[in-house]
Amino acid sequence: MTSKEQIIRLVDGKKDFFSKVSDDVWSTPELGFLEFKSARTLMNALKEQGFEVENNLAGIETAFKGTWGTGKPVISFLGEFDALPSLSQQASCNVKAPVEEGGNGHGCGHCNLGAGSMAAATALKNYMEENNLPGTVVYFGCPAEESGCGKTFMAREGVFDGVDIAITWHPGSTNNVWGVSTLANIIVLFHFKGVTSHAAASPHLGRSALDAAELMNVGVNFLREHVIPEARMHYAFQDVGGGAPNVVQDRATVLYYIRAPKTEQVMEIYPRVVKCAEGAAHMTETQLTVEIKTALSDYIPNDVVSKTMSDAMVEIGPIEFSDEAKAFAEEMYKSLSESDIKSGIGTLMSHMPAEVAAQRVHEKLIPDVFPYKRLPVHMPGSTDVGDVSYVVPTAQLSAATAIIGTPGHSWQQTAQANSVLAHEGLTYAAKVMALTGVKFLENPELVEKAQAELKAATGGIYNCPIPKDVKPQP
Ligand SMILES: [Zn+2]
Ligand SMILES: [Zn+2]
Repeated sequence: MTSKEQIIRLVDGKKDFFSKVSDDVWSTPELGFLEFKSARTLMNALKEQGFEVENNLAGIETAFKGTWGTGKPVISFLGEFDALPSLSQQASCNVKAPVEEGGNGHGCGHCNLGAGSMAAATALKNYMEENNLPGTVVYFGCPAEESGCGKTFMAREGVFDGVDIAITWHPGSTNNVWGVSTLANIIVLFHFKGVTSHAAASPHLGRSALDAAELMNVGVNFLREHVIPEARMHYAFQDVGGGAPNVVQDRATVLYYIRAPKTEQVMEIYPRVVKCAEGAAHMTETQLTVEIKTALSDYIPNDVVSKTMSDAMVEIGPIEFSDEAKAFAEEMYKSLSESDIKSGIGTLMSHMPAEVAAQRVHEKLIPDVFPYKRLPVHMPGSTDVGDVSYVVPTAQLSAATAIIGTPGHSWQQTAQANSVLAHEGLTYAAKVMALTGVKFLENPELVEKAQAELKAATGGIYNCPIPKDVKPQP
């Protein structure tokens, strides 16, 4: 039996177990750093599969790891399990129907992510047991990917030190290894404090914090022209100082995301945004407090790990979707708008000519394997996998758990994250990731090569973008 056949057998043997783990996490959708039930579900599953479990990593209650084996190499798998607000939706249902109105939902598929990575870690462990191979398998339970940057805190506290290779994935609608980087990001709260007064009778006595926040935003909107075009600055009001126009607002808070392709670029733009806030406070005679909430680094795909993962994916081959998954895909497709379908074409265009993409989008399920391509572009989003990629050679794949055109962070994603399709997709991802691990065990020179590549890319330096005194907060 080849290693591929062995891995397929091992993963398929536990498909029902890990599909249930995924569904259990799906059923308790919790936001970042508050994933107590989900973390418990995953830790119990790790124990059941024979891993030594340790929690409270980096002082975070919902950060944990499961370890099995001894010595080198140390192959790790990253799992996520946080949900998103307002994306509650019934499982496998193609019309918008929340389980709980306004409730949380797994609209990014992190329930699949956490379970799929654990299925891979377990299959690799079982493979090593069957073949008497030395080495260590670690599963990292990483909380708060969506807005808290759990992995960045974990990296800051040295949780990933001593790990040789990091393997992960993200649910998607195509099968490929990520060959692009992502944007670094700093997430900052700007609090303004002023003085209330009667807005008609004594406006001269008031100092408006809301004016300050608005002026800050005006300043940043002018600043936009004078930063690199790849930078992104977006804001949302967290507190507007109350709903009464006749009371001068004595408090206002605005939350900013400041993103750019490299962490250094973010750190260059950030003080300029602070200057806009300071200017606004000066103009309005209000007091400013700047509070860094969290931050994350850009993602550096490691070519050695990514190519190894891509080889494993080619070897495993395309996903063979069941008839049940195909029938479900037909139903789910009815929920997509014209613009969703157009964006599906856009996704496919990374892998095929536009006219082929326009045809194939109607197939709904894309089982193909698209080989690894390292592209000099940045995906216009951010992930805290970036910080892991600065300290451990890292690769991540996308596997089809949803139909092509499914919008990110949508109720359609929540619906599909607990479906026959997601179960087949996460099982597929687990096979590819476990076989990637096997390749590193059987070719130790690949581990050295991957580490040399990381050292060349970073100079062996990782500057965590979250200052030392900042604590994780939901
Ligand atoms: Zn997301
Ligand atoms: Zn996600």
